Amino acid sequence: MTAPFLSEAEALRDDLVAVRRDLHMHPELGFQELRTARIVAEKLGALGYEVQTGVGQTGVVGLLQGGLPGGRTVLLRFDMDALPVHEENDVSYRSQTPGVMHACGHDAHVAIGIGVATLLARHRERLPGTIKLMFQPAEEGLGGAKAMIADGLLESPRPDVALGLHVASDQDLGSAVVRPGAMMAASDALTIVVRGKGGHGAHPDQTVDAVMVGSQIVVALQSIVARNLCPEDTGVVTIGAFLAGNAGNVIAETAELRGTIRSFEPPVRELLHRRVREVATGVAATYGATAEVTIRIGVDATVNAPKPTTVLYEATAAVLGADHIDTTYRTTGGEDFSAVLARVPGSYFFIGSRSDERTGAPHHNPRFDIDERCLPQGVAILCAAALRCLDGEAE
Ligand SMILES: [Zn+2]
Ligand SMILES: [Zn+2]
Repeated sequence: MTAPFLSEAEALRDDLVAVRRDLHMHPELGFQELRTARIVAEKLGALGYEVQTGVGQTGVVGLLQGGLPGGRTVLLRFDMDALPVHEENDVSYRSQTPGVMHACGHDAHVAIGIGVATLLARHRERLPGTIKLMFQPAEEGLGGAKAMIADGLLESPRPDVALGLHVASDQDLGSAVVRPGAMMAASDALTIVVRGKGGHGAHPDQTVDAVMVGSQIVVALQSIVARNLCPEDTGVVTIGAFLAGNAGNVIAETAELRGTIRSFEPPVRELLHRRVREVATGVAATYGATAEVTIRIGVDATVNAPKPTTVLYEATAAVLGADHIDTTYRTTGGEDFSAVLARVPGSYFFIGSRSDERTGAPHHNPRFDIDERCLPQGVAILCAAALRCLDGEAE
């Protein structure tokens, strides 16, 4: 059996590539996606969608009422923002904006979203319910999903199911990751300010050295995952920045450590937060310093609900073959679509975009690129899954 929507999606491939390359050449940072949003809004309007712009600043929502009776609404999400990365690829569609690049593949997501919008509009008469397209700004750490939710994204109509995807340069073209449960991690930002007593580098006895204390804290924090976390569980405590001191002969009074904490399960998240506070303040006290620990809650874990995931799995199997679906992989990366999935049952999946060394460069790397043959695959999977969700199969 050929997959529903696949041949139609393949026929759109040149259009999808053109959209993706145009966006790639004109990347826009989070909450600045004005050109991208205008293109999306124009295309959705031309296809007959009811379009709302300015949702969550630069977000766009498209509504399509199907031609068959049915009360369900299915939300499909595509993020639009680029990154502050300077592109190093030597390609005809290279970024035209110095220092800004679609280095995570959100240009591909918008192109897939336009493709999905096109095919679902073409099949409008067969749709028993409402399609709600979410073109989201500012996924990269700025809270675009929450901004859209705050602007009423999940009301009138309220979605019954939500689906989303990400291209993945660590997965082969023609493969996908579709799995229930926590697929991406909760991500929280950590700041520790160590306060000691500054002084002359020749007289350490008269000081409390914030550089030395901060260094002990960095090392001691690594014992949390190694010695406190159950070996069956997964977590990360990373210190990525250590800011202290200005001169070799001055003992620093303060040091600031910045890091990130990742977890999949709420009890693990709670454990990591508690131990980070205990270890940092305890180590500081040992040396007569203080440590002020601030943990800023970032995104929750991205948790896929069982039934929508089954629908997505079957739609993906029809397009790529069940042999090409990984049902166990998960990543300690974070994803703000988790804010939608915390409120609406749904599922999020990875579609492989790597076909050689070039398209295998990591996300956020200046040489990131995709094999564009994944675009029609993503379109076909989402269209088929959305139709089945409208039929109530995800409940
Ligand atoms: Zn990213
Ligand atoms: Zn991304």
